[in-house]
Amino acid sequence: MKFIFVTGGVVSSLGKGLTAAALGTLLENRGFKIALQKFDPYLNVDPGTMSPFQHGEVYVLDDGAETDLDLGHYERFTSVKLTRLNNLTSGQVYQTVLNNEREGKYLGKTVQVIPHVTDEIKRRIHLLAEQTKADVIITEIGGTTGDIEGLPFLEAIREFALEAGAGRTCFIHVTYVPFIKAAGELKTKPTQQSVAKLREIGIAPQLIVCRCEKPLDKELRQKISLFCNVPVEAVIEEKDVDHSIYEVPLMLQRERADDLVCRLLHLDGPAPNMAHWQEIIRKLIAPQHRVRIGVVGKYIGLQDAYKSVYEAIIHGGVGNDCGVEIVRVDSEEIEKEGAEKMLQGFGGILVPGGFGERGIEGKIQAARFARENKIPYLGLCLGMQIATIEFARNVLKLEKAHSTEFDPDTPHPVIALLDGQKKVTKKGGTMRLGAQACQLTIGTKAAQLYGSFVVNERHRHRFEFNNHYRERFEKAGFVFSGLSPDGKLVEVIELKDHPFFVASQFHPEFLSKPHQPHPLFRGFIAAAHQQIHHKPL
Ligand code: GLN
Repeated sequence: MKFIFVTGGVVSSLGKGLTAAALGTLLENRGFKIALQKFDPYLNVDPGTMSPFQHGEVYVLDDGAETDLDLGHYERFTSVKLTRLNNLTSGQVYQTVLNNEREGKYLGKTVQVIPHVTDEIKRRIHLLAEQTKADVIITEIGGTTGDIEGLPFLEAIREFALEAGAGRTCFIHVTYVPFIKAAGELKTKPTQQSVAKLREIGIAPQLIVCRCEKPLDKELRQKISLFCNVPVEAVIEEKDVDHSIYEVPLMLQRERADDLVCRLLHLDGPAPNMAHWQEIIRKLIAPQHRVRIGVVGKYIGLQDAYKSVYEAIIHGGVGNDCGVEIVRVDSEEIEKEGAEKMLQGFGGILVPGGFGERGIEGKIQAARFARENKIPYLGLCLGMQIATIEFARNVLKLEKAHSTEFDPDTPHPVIALLDGQKKVTKKGGTMRLGAQACQLTIGTKAAQLYGSFVVNERHRHRFEFNNHYRERFEKAGFVFSGLSPDGKLVEVIELKDHPFFVASQFHPEFLSKPHQPHPLFRGFIAAAHQQIHHKPL
């Protein structure tokens, strides 16, 4: 078993997660069984309690773990299925160490960062190795080298490498090589300093992956090689992608990063066959069709808040050989300006998940606009609840219908708290989370798209459709196309007499991959580009 550690330098948001995932793609395509793991140095036990403004999207796994969004990249770029073991936070490390201390496991000893905290971190790497039996474990350390809170993780991987012995571990440092406009040059100094910092704590990176806007020329590569103490072929250029993040594996392959990693780790495997990946890029760069999709949310200013949703839309495009222009629409703007004005020219409208009251009315207006104008609509979690509220108010004429999340005193609580949630008071990890089975109804659009009758989809919610209203909705043409196996929970709804109006209580975006677009997203984009409302770009 071999271990790769990916650290980051100079600035955050470098795309370390993408680099780790892309390396995973290449190694997997060489025939190795891989596992990917993320360490996050913050003290939250998981990101489930953090605002999207702080953290971006919370990615949910089959087992219900609420994790960092990099795990989304790992699942999209490879065939690995992740579990809660694949994301470790300082919060979890300290929680375990402190529980051990209270149980008396360290009796007599002073509990310290070294060795108790670092041992716990190493234990989690071994645990993943044991559980997955992977040939290669790729562990990404969140944060930037030099952060105080990241030190125990770096110390732990240093110790890990020492204990594992030569040829079993490989350190990759992802760094930033800025382009200074005034000088017209790329600058290597921050990279030199960041690597020096790592060497100070005993880690000597063997590959330097340089994120840059312009190509790294030979001279710069030599300079980085000299100052960072790596051979020149270990200086890897990772330029900003022209079209899509899915180009990153091909970019790393061109730079022979995977060859070098295999040599360092004495891994023998054929060169990866990336033909299918190249075909995905072809469809992304030169698609046959084009469509514009409006995503109506309240975190639209943030690149990362709806990460998996944006990715799944793009995959839906790949599935239809269709380029997608995603336009982010602020639901509060719809409240001010009206749906008519804000939602013109879209082939489809998507309302993603969300919490809290802000912007809700704008989303309801968006669902109404899509329903009345027969524009394809895809609702995800909150997006399904929104579609329900809209239908209740404007078709069933249930005035002031709402979700009790937003109006506890509504006369028509068409969306209400799940039974299991009524006694829940703690916030962390207490929603209905993770993969649950859903039964689809024969003859519905959902069943037709999935091509099967039982599907497993990931959830993250506290509220649900209120069954008290089922009959009234059904009579008016609101179709319950997916239910939990016991029939009690509404999982998918759709509308008759509409080209595509489908919404799910679960989050299909978490199961989409570029080479396996999710059926609901594929269907949504297909409907969107056939849309008469769509004006060619
Ligand atoms: N706020 C809603 C609920 O808790 C929707 C959650 C979501 O969209 N993830 O049920």
